[in-house]
Order: sequence, then structure tokens, then C-alpha cells
Amino acid sequence: SSQASPLNPSSTASTPSTSSPLSHLPLAAPGSTPSPSGTPLGLDNLFTNPVFAGGLGLGALGAAAAFGRRALISTAQLLRRQLLVNIEISKRDPSYPWVLAWLAQPRDDPGFLARRICRLRNLSISTTTRSLTRDEATGGGKIHADFRVQPGFGKHIIRHSPGVYIAVKREKAGTATTATGEPHETLTLTLLWMHRHVLADIFTEAHALAQQAHEGRTVVYTARRMEWAVLGQPRIKRPLGSVILDKGVKEMLVADVKEFLASQQWYVERGVPYRRGYLLYGPPGTGKTSFIQALAGELDYNVAMINLSEQGMTDDLLAHLLTQLPEKSILLLEDVDAALVNRRQRDPDGYTGRTVTASGLLNALDGLAAGEDRITFLTTNHIDRLDPALIRPGRVDMMVRIGEATRYQAAEMWDRYYGDIDTDHSGRERFLQRMDELGLFGGSETDPSVPKRHTSTAAIQGLFQFNKGNIEGAIGMVEALIPRTFEA
Ligand code: ADP
Repeated sequence: SSQASPLNPSSTASTPSTSSPLSHLPLAAPGSTPSPSGTPLGLDNLFTNPVFAGGLGLGALGAAAAFGRRALISTAQLLRRQLLVNIEISKRDPSYPWVLAWLAQPRDDPGFLARRICRLRNLSISTTTRSLTRDEATGGGKIHADFRVQPGFGKHIIRHSPGVYIAVKREKAGTATTATGEPHETLTLTLLWMHRHVLADIFTEAHALAQQAHEGRTVVYTARRMEWAVLGQPRIKRPLGSVILDKGVKEMLVADVKEFLASQQWYVERGVPYRRGYLLYGPPGTGKTSFIQALAGELDYNVAMINLSEQGMTDDLLAHLLTQLPEKSILLLEDVDAALVNRRQRDPDGYTGRTVTASGLLNALDGLAAGEDRITFLTTNHIDRLDPALIRPGRVDMMVRIGEATRYQAAEMWDRYYGDIDTDHSGRERFLQRMDELGLFGGSETDPSVPKRHTSTAAIQGLFQFNKGNIEGAIGMVEALIPRTFEA
């Protein structure tokens, strides 16, 4: 068709031999058929076409902007890499809660402009509650709550000191969870490379702050799945004087532990692992756990506690936990007899849950998992069930029976509760005489026909607690100390 446009490939393809080598380029072909409008469609025309030129200009601008943006981003990234320091702290790291607490501290007024941008905007609250122990609460069933304000998730900028700013990013790390099932988190601090020296200060301050919060307190750690977790809030140190063991027992134990702590050099020189193990055995409610807690307070140690009869505690888990023992802690393994009993035998209902085995426990005490530097306390209510292999220097160096209340203990406890009002000790003598009459110190000294009985220090404490400041009430209730279960 004569009207065919030169842009139509069919028309150019039909005359390849007669045209120049470039003739197949429709825009530049000489002698090409005029366009329907009568003007040749050349490059010049195209560029003079305002729509096309405008589009091209915009395109060029866009490309330049995109290029500029990319250049800016990479320059920013480069600068960031060169000029900034990032510190990422994982929730698994012990410093995580310290740094969070440090960030939540009130700061000096940073000035008007900085005040606008530099405060923590998203705060979250972390509340821990615990029931007060019998010793702390005057009435029953009180709950103590602690509130701590922390930086929430997101980005914050804080001013560390004049001219030193820190960007803080707290975020949940994907869907990962910690071993305790909580979402995993990270905290990233970003600051100028030239201010990097403040990082050491921050961590030192945060650690000091955490220690200060624990000053005068004993932290009790317990195994929560694969990790150690703080049990409740750090407790006010229990004074050693509040735990009343039989005459001389407490003093002997305390002296032994202190001597051990003072003699590290002796162990090092002889190449002996610097470890000492104690086994406290006897019936429940006699003050074993209380003593260990008070001892930790006295030594300014924490307590890391594992109950071996707990379901799910296995050899592997025990070994794993021991490799991560919190610093400066007395290791307390409770109910060690659980490790040495055949579960099937103990639970006739067929429970075959996994548990710690005897060899798992021995390995924890002096195998590879045992660590080099350790004080271990083992407790059990059933000494007869223990494997003799357990009682060997390096595993257990000292075995002490903590038994039912003796006359000495009952008298000491009385004095702690009523000493200030029973000044002539007449009340104490009546109380002790009443206990003796009931055979509660293993039979009556005066009347052989009275049955031999015992009571626990926990029961006496309960009675005194119930009759606070009431001497006659306490004496009148002595019969309540007779252990009913043994009478039946
Ligand atoms: P155990 O570990 O021997 O089973 P605990 O230390 O858990 O006993 O004691 C249970 C409760 O009884 C605690 O509240 C504790 O204060 C009190 N108690 C038991 N024995 C004593 C003791 N010898 N001196 C002071 N308090 C005691």
C-alpha cells in the first residue's frame, strides 16, 4: 500500500537490496516514504517534540535522582560503617537487663532542642510480683510488686553526656524464642566511632547499677528449662543468726566454707580442683535450705538451685546448666536422692519420665561439667537412698545431719521471738518443760512412759509466728507440735 508508513517493517523488508545498509533503519532511511502528515520523522524532530523531550528530561532527572539516592545511601552506609559503632546485645547475654535498666535511668536535662528528640518515647513496664515469705509478711497472703520502667521496642535517642548521643534500637528478633519460651530480643546501641570510649563506661555503670540493686540481697537462680532464671526478686539477705541449728553445727559449717574460700592458693599449688562439697541431710523443715541461703548472704554469694526431683531434669540438662552457672554462686542441688532411685520402682503407676541418673549426678560433681571453682551443697531427706560413691572427697567433703529440733534449738528460737519480753526466762523454761513432758525431745527425761517424739524447727517457728508477742499463747499450744502423721 502506498500509504504504508516507513515504520511498517513489511515495507522496508520488501526492498532490502535497493537501499543503503542503513535503509532498514526506518527513521534514517533516505528517500523514505513521507509520513501521512507530510514531514519526515527524524531524530531532530523527535527531540524537538516537546512531549518527548519533556519525558526524556523527566526520565533523566529520575535516573539522576535514583542514582543520587543510591549514591547517598551508599555514602551513608559507608559513613555509618566508618564513623559509627554498633553494639548488639542479645537477650541471652547477662548484661541485657543491666543495660535496659541503665537506659531507663533518669538523665540530666539535655537542653531544649535535645529534650525534644532525646527522650525515651516508648517505655514498657516490667513488673515482678512475689508472695512475701512467712518471715517477711506480718499478715498472710501479701503480694509484693516491683515495677521497673524500661525502654520499649523501637528506636530511641538518648544523650549520654554533653555532645554524646546514642541511638538505641530494641527489637524482637524474628520468631526466635529464648529457651524459656519468651520472644528473643536484641538491643543495639549505635554511636559515633569517636565516642566509642563511652561504651566501656556504659557497661561498667550498668553492671554497678545492677549490683547496687542487689546490694544486701541474695539472688536465687533456678533452672528454667535450659537456662538459669532469677527466682522472684533478689531477697533481702537472711541473717545467719535467724537460722538455728544444733549447738556448734552452724559455726562449724561456716568456718569450713570460709577456710575453703581463703585457701584457693593451696589448691592451685597442688593442682587439686578448687571445689568443696557439702551434704546436708535430715527430715524436711529443719532449716537446710534456709541455712544455705543465709550462708550465701554471709559470704556475699548468690544461690543457684536445681531440684533433682523436678520433672524434666536430665543428665544432659544438668551438665548443660552447670557449664553456665551464674557467677559467684553456691550450687545447691536439692533432693539428690531422686537421682539415685529407680523411678519405676518409686512410681508404681508406671511413670517413666526421664530423670537424672546416679552417674549423671557424679559427673556433675566431679566430671568435666563440674567446673574448677565451686561450692556445692547437696540436700536430701533420705540419706539411706544415696549411692556410697557420692560420698568421696571432691564430691562430698563434709556430711552433716540437720535433725529435728533439739532442746538447745527450741531455747534459742524462743529467745529470738520472746527474748525481749521474757526477761527472766521463766516463760522459756515452762515452754521447754512442756515440750519435754510431751516427749518432743525424743522422749521424756523424767517419765519413761511418754512416747519418743520429735518436731521440726519449722513447726516451732510456725507456732511462734502464730503467737507473736504472746508467751502464754505459745505455751498453751505446745501440743500442736506433736506430729500427727506419726501418731496414727
Ligand atoms: P528444709 O530445707 O530443711 O526442708 P527450710 O529451710 O525450707 O527446711 O525451712 C522451712 C521453713 O522453716 C522456713 O521458713 C524456715 O525459716 C523455717 N525453719 C526451719 N528450720 C529452721 C531453723 N533451724 N532455724 C530457723 N528457721 C527454720
